[in-house]
Amino acid sequence: MADLPLSVAAYDRVADRRTDEAWLADAWSRARIVAISRRSSAPTARGGDGAPHLVYREPDDAGDGPRRFLGVVGDQPYFAVTTEPDDRDDWLTLREIGGRADDLEAGLLTAAIALEQWHLRHPRCPQCGEPTTEHKAGWTRVCSNDGSEHFPRMDPAVIMLIHDGADHALLGRGHQWNEGRFSTLAGFVEPGESLEAAVAREVLEETNVGVRDIRYVASQPWPFPASLMLGFTAVLDGDPSVQIDPVEMAEAAWFSRDEIAAARDWTDEHEPATSGSRLQAIPPRFSISRYLIDRWLQGDA
Ligand SMILES: [Zn+2]
Repeated sequence: MADLPLSVAAYDRVADRRTDEAWLADAWSRARIVAISRRSSAPTARGGDGAPHLVYREPDDAGDGPRRFLGVVGDQPYFAVTTEPDDRDDWLTLREIGGRADDLEAGLLTAAIALEQWHLRHPRCPQCGEPTTEHKAGWTRVCSNDGSEHFPRMDPAVIMLIHDGADHALLGRGHQWNEGRFSTLAGFVEPGESLEAAVAREVLEETNVGVRDIRYVASQPWPFPASLMLGFTAVLDGDPSVQIDPVEMAEAAWFSRDEIAAARDWTDEHEPATSGSRLQAIPPRFSISRYLIDRWLQGDA
């Protein structure tokens, strides 16, 4: 799984230090700070490799936003602080940095953004409605009224490469996407539902296609704002005829390996499609959708 961006555990979270105030104070004094804005951008500078890299802030230059302890690499602590973008650096979003950041930078930024998005959206106690405040170095919120403690939430979503056991895969286009751009099917897991049941239900709802042999492949945090993407493959079971749900999908269809490989090349080279193919682009390299598609193109699914 080392090659799926945003998913690599490149630092140690040392969660037991989140309540160790003396240790945290010392760690802060020698920390590298990941500054992020409320719109999930971070200061970057282009490195010698041509890719954007995080510009870490010094502790005395990090602003007075809440300090959230992310973890350590060896003796080096990392914190996140939310601040306003300035004009010292090139502020880019995680989507813009994409898979070009290294695993440590991508991992720190993903955690910092996921935490910030959760704090932003959960200022009040879900039990009594009174304000909550940050505790445990940014990893919980506690109610000022009833003392209840609340933990960061994520929304599990399944994303699946459906194939026919031979040469075709089922891709769909959401209403928000440009014509010609297709991706794997996906949907949120509902309360009381297993991941496998969610895969089968979403495929049936979106395309009226039945599936079997549902297999877990990999996961990817996707903090836009709070998804955890759970990647699967599954095989067509029965009639391949596609009938889309027009509310959920603009279109969906089976495409051959050759058609999908051509769309991959156009996507990576940022070139317009050179044929009149219905499929002209697939998701960018750092997404789990793309990971599932590439894996299938290589014959691994
Ligand atoms: Zn409360």
